[in-house]
Amino acid sequence: MKISLFSLSAVIALTIALSPSFSAAFPTNINRRPHNASPNPNAIADTSNPRSLAVVTSFKNHRVVRINISTKADLKVLTDNEQDLGFDYFTHDKGIGGAIDVRVPAQSFKTFQGLKLNYTTVVEDLQAMIDEEQRTNEVYEEQVWRHTVNQIKNTHSVQGREGGENQIFASPLAASAWFKGYHSYADHVKWLNAQIAGSKGKAKGFSAGKSFEGRPQAGIRFGTGGKHIVFHGTQHAREWVTTMTVEYMITQLLNTKNKKVAGYLKKYTFHIIPIMNPDGFVVSQTTNRLHRKNTQPNGQCLGTDINRNWDSHFGEGGSSTDPCAIDYMGPRPFSTPEASNMARYLRSLPNVAAYLDIHSFSQLWMVPFGYTSTRPGTYAYMDGLAAKAVTALEKVHGTRFRHGDIFHTIYQSSGTSVDYVYEVVKAKVAMAVELRDTGRNGFMLPPDQILPTGEETWAAMAAILDNIK
Ligand SMILES: [Zn+2]
Repeated sequence: MKISLFSLSAVIALTIALSPSFSAAFPTNINRRPHNASPNPNAIADTSNPRSLAVVTSFKNHRVVRINISTKADLKVLTDNEQDLGFDYFTHDKGIGGAIDVRVPAQSFKTFQGLKLNYTTVVEDLQAMIDEEQRTNEVYEEQVWRHTVNQIKNTHSVQGREGGENQIFASPLAASAWFKGYHSYADHVKWLNAQIAGSKGKAKGFSAGKSFEGRPQAGIRFGTGGKHIVFHGTQHAREWVTTMTVEYMITQLLNTKNKKVAGYLKKYTFHIIPIMNPDGFVVSQTTNRLHRKNTQPNGQCLGTDINRNWDSHFGEGGSSTDPCAIDYMGPRPFSTPEASNMARYLRSLPNVAAYLDIHSFSQLWMVPFGYTSTRPGTYAYMDGLAAKAVTALEKVHGTRFRHGDIFHTIYQSSGTSVDYVYEVVKAKVAMAVELRDTGRNGFMLPPDQILPTGEETWAAMAAILDNIK
């Protein structure tokens, strides 16, 4: 029996098949809640045990609403109710005059309407969107990816098990099919190994350390320059397009035929991790599509927000002490192995010329600080690079990004990777990027946008690499 890619429905079916007490344990409303759970609706979403097939989180009739915040009073109503109503902030702009996208759980919607905030509905039923994503991926998996793998097997003499897999995942035919859909964690691991094996010694594999559940934070390292460039995707699990985009940039940087790229590899050494939060990523593919945090248990809720857990102005605003909140900072700085490992790895490098933490969504290219409104000493240099990046990005497909410091561009946040890497690691440039889109599809970015997102982000990255001092 095989539970493979995007198997949420398979998991549900299997759960029914395996569990004799299914009907008793899970009433027909599959938005189910453990008996001892609190009324906090976020607790329902985040209680999923990643090791149990029995708990699959449904977002049936959860809405995404865009709330317009015009007064201080609006802001107060929002923050006063966020915990009780289980708001899950999809975007960050909580300032007056701004708008913010929020997931409102089905059972909170009536109360939410009673708050009389000014809002429009962006997504009517989030589960329908998740189901659609899964259907699209199943079709892709069947008709494009498996088909391509078979084609490679038939036209090339593919060697034994591991060598064969590397040959398949690194072949040019596979490269063109890979970015047309989303992939399972297991396939991402194979893909990265294949790039390393196929680089003819140019690239080496490394791991920043082990996740809470013991998965490697696996990366690829190449280049011979004295300036180090570090970037990663998926610090937040549900932001799937970030993994694909980081992988797309790896393929561009490993393209030996491009003269400009050859120059980058002489000037820089690259350290790239497609999946910084592997445990959370697996949860987002198996039990809770909207899981954001890692998987350290915190009483009744699952996970710490890794990007509020770095040892830089920890807990100084824009992070939560509530273990059920999506931005739960953890009990102490670096309580998450994922952040602590990454920090140790970064500190071991002699000269970090640029660090980029790739997120989705909102279309923003940001620099420190998140914790304070005071801008860093080298703000002009960093934001100048960000400006060049978004100009280059827009030229590719017309996608418009905003740029600036985190505090002013979105909202205060503390304990984040970029503040730490700028202040403690002393990286010359630290950037937090939010890829496509601006909310229409949000985390469920359709697969036909993977390649364009990769192309435009690569253009932005090249602009940065061209202009680093
Ligand atoms: Zn994120």
